[in-house]
Amino acid sequence: MVPGLRPPAETSEGDGMSELSTMILDRIRDVPDYPKPGVMFKDITPLLGDPVAMAAVVDGLAGLYEVDKIVGIEARGFILAAPVAYRAAAGFVPVRKKGKLPAATLEESYDLEYGSATIEVHRDAFTPGDRVLIVDDVLATGGTAQAAVELVRRAGGEVVGIAVLMELAFLEGRERLDGIPVHSLVIV
Ligand code: AMP
Repeated sequence: MVPGLRPPAETSEGDGMSELSTMILDRIRDVPDYPKPGVMFKDITPLLGDPVAMAAVVDGLAGLYEVDKIVGIEARGFILAAPVAYRAAAGFVPVRKKGKLPAATLEESYDLEYGSATIEVHRDAFTPGDRVLIVDDVLATGGTAQAAVELVRRAGGEVVGIAVLMELAFLEGRERLDGIPVHSLVIV
C-alpha cells in the first residue's frame, strides 16, 4: 500500500454497484449535444443540490490519501475540491483557465473532448515536495488532468493521485495518465 493511503474508495466497475455509485449515478443528468453536437454532457447539478449525496461524495474523495494540497480544476472541479480540502484538512489550490489568476503563473495547453484550452497555476502555490491530490468532476480524454499534473510538478508538488466523481471509460483518459493512480467514484 502506498504510504499514507487509507482504505480505497469506490474505484471499480463490474463487481456490483455500491450504494455510493448508485447515489451518484441517480443524480448525474445526461444532457445530449451540450455544449456542442455529439457531446453527452454529464450535469452534476442534481448531485450538488443533494446534501446527503454531496457529503458522501466529499467523504469518498477526501479519504483517499493524506495530502498537503488538493488541486481543483476550474470550474466544476472547484465545487468538489474545496470541500474535499476542508474535509481532508489540506490546502486548496485552484488551477484556472488562462488569465484568471492574479499573480505569477505557470501554464499548460491541452486538447479537450470539445475544443482546446490553456490552464494555469500560481508559481508559488506549492511548498517543494507537497503531496498533492488533483480533483475534478469528470475524467474524459484525460487531457485536462494530464495538463494539471504537469503544472503541479513544474510548480514543485508531488502528484499522489487524481480523484474524480465520474470517469468516461470509453475515452480512455486513464491511459494518458500513466503511472498516476486514478480514483473514480463512478466509471461509465
Ligand atoms: P478531458 O480533458 O477530456 O478529460 O475533460 C475533462 C474536463 O472537461 C473536466 O474538467 C470536465 O469538467 C469536462 N468535461 C469533459 N467532458 C465532459 C462531459 N461529457 N460532461 C461533463 N464535463 C465534461
